[in-house]
Amino acid sequence: MSFKAPVRDIVFSLQAAAGYERLASAFPEADLDTAQAVLEAAGEFAADVLAPLNRSADQAGAVYENGRVTAPAGFVDAYKQYAAGGWNGLAASPDHGGQGLPKTLEVAVFDIFQAANLAFGIWPTLTLGAVEAIDHHGSERQKAIYLPKLVSGEWTGTMNLTEPQAGSDLAAVRTRAEPDGEGGYRLHGQKIFITWGDHEATDNIVHLVLARLPDAPEGVKGISLFLAPKVQVNDDGSLGALNALRPGGIEHKMGLHGSPTCVMLYEGAKAELIGQPHNGLAYMFTMMNAARLMVGVQGVGVAERAYQRALAFAQERRQGRSAWTGETSAPIFDHPDVRRMLMLAKAKLDAARAICFATAVASDLARASSDPAEKAAAAAREALLTPIAKGWSTDVGVEVASAGVQVHGGMGFIEETGAAQYYRDSRILPIYEGTNGIQAMDLAGRKLADGGAALADLLAEIRADANGLAGELAGVKGRLLTGADAVDDAARWLIERRGTPDALAGATAFLKLTGDLVGGWMLARTAAAALAGGGPDDTAWRASKAALARLFAEQVLTGASGLAEAVKQGAGDLASVSAEALGA
Ligand SMILES: Cc1cc2nc3c(=O)[nH]c(=O)nc-3n(C[C@H](O)[C@H](O)[C@H](O)COP(=O)(O)OP(=O)(O)OC[C@H]3O[C@@H](n4cnc5c(N)ncnc54)[C@H](O)[C@@H]3O)c2cc1C
Repeated sequence: MSFKAPVRDIVFSLQAAAGYERLASAFPEADLDTAQAVLEAAGEFAADVLAPLNRSADQAGAVYENGRVTAPAGFVDAYKQYAAGGWNGLAASPDHGGQGLPKTLEVAVFDIFQAANLAFGIWPTLTLGAVEAIDHHGSERQKAIYLPKLVSGEWTGTMNLTEPQAGSDLAAVRTRAEPDGEGGYRLHGQKIFITWGDHEATDNIVHLVLARLPDAPEGVKGISLFLAPKVQVNDDGSLGALNALRPGGIEHKMGLHGSPTCVMLYEGAKAELIGQPHNGLAYMFTMMNAARLMVGVQGVGVAERAYQRALAFAQERRQGRSAWTGETSAPIFDHPDVRRMLMLAKAKLDAARAICFATAVASDLARASSDPAEKAAAAAREALLTPIAKGWSTDVGVEVASAGVQVHGGMGFIEETGAAQYYRDSRILPIYEGTNGIQAMDLAGRKLADGGAALADLLAEIRADANGLAGELAGVKGRLLTGADAVDDAARWLIERRGTPDALAGATAFLKLTGDLVGGWMLARTAAAALAGGGPDDTAWRASKAALARLFAEQVLTGASGLAEAVKQGAGDLASVSAEALGA
């Protein structure tokens, strides 16, 4: 089944749910018509070039042999087309060769690329993160030498945080950076799980590496950020000798086979410090916040692909008698339970997409608004929504991919349909870029450290929109208002107990509860705009948006008060039971 980019849904989500028009004064050249044209071109590239490589890359995988990493067949050529098409520099500053478009549009384009080919899609997103980190924290020289090549896609970037003993806890990083006496540094250590850590598609790879200086204090305050290119770069930008770093192997994974996940060995590699010593983790967070949103978009992408395949299969596969039409040997789409699975998948997918776009709009306004009050409010909104965009959307990615397998029945478990690949691929998304447990603790902890002020602003908006719902969406109103009360109640409980085991135990339920509410709100906004005659002139499509909002309200938002109770259960029972007692 061929992939079709969901441009119609993406454009409407930007417009009706995410508030894309708020970017008009900061990005006057990027109106919705322009966005639509860019998205249509992205859709063609994704369908023609990226999607056809998805399955073959899963089967062949990336290969490590004789110290070299080889990308799956077709990926290098696809990457060259991607770079030549200017896709890498959409949101980068024109100062470095970028197009200066909103990040929101870049995120929407990557929604399509991730859906077409997740293992390919993660590759350039790491380069975008490196661009962001160097742009914010690099020296003028580093910007001049590295940014034009990274923005054009001539070189790629990586993010080297993880070590065997340092995963979620980056305070445990041990890679050493020793001054070389000439103003530079030499890196010694091993990094693991480095996505696209090596490949042959570009003539250089720019590694951003967390390491410790000899005088570094213990813990997170002693970590610095370094830039170590695969091939050394002379001051005039020309390439010099190979650097003393190499891939030591690639992992054999459950999914995402097309993306090489490398062990990286630093054996005295020449490196430059980025920014100030011991400040690396803060700098890396610049990269991580952008990357977290992009991983959320990966959840959306894989959900889209899994949903498209399941919907097609449900119309072809015939089994049993339809409870609606009485037809025997009916398409399984005509069974209420299958329809429920598909519609719930679509509702969650639409909701996750809108959450990611709303986060991106906030990010753009936080960066580019000329109104200080709007800028500050947008920064607070971006900070609040980022763990939801990452955590909730990637959980949706796995749920929808799992529903896709279920809709296929036994054929879903058989590799040839492709449904199994989406499920396997999706499973990494709640793990990398900060596990969803870490996202939940961020939301329930740091993001409520303002006493709940940013959340209160969000709840006020949700309540105001809910109070405006009537007619076909009258039932959604009550569910949203109850949901907002549940989030409010749970948040107050968490704020009183911030940092305690009780609050930490409730964090994941809080992320689910808040994500469900924001998702339900986004669907209500979409539905209200569709019923008011927005979007394509298609009555059935408009009615489907209202049906999705209602289904989500009745099947998901009805769980809000239960989730608030789960948040407030506390950690008592968790603390009182030993591992021995729980064992066999
Ligand atoms: C395919 C793949 C690609 C990756 N790409 C990159 C990359 O490009 N660059 C890079 O640097 N890293 C990368 N990673 C590493 C990834 O970011 C880590 O795996 C992730 O951060 C989790 O760390 P960990 O695996 O050590 O798990 P751990 O930190 O050991 O966590 C194990 C479990 O314990 C939980 N946990 C840990 N600490 C806490 C806590 N304080 N409170 C509550 N729960 C906790 C976690 O949520 C998780 O459920 C990649 C990993 C994979 C598998």
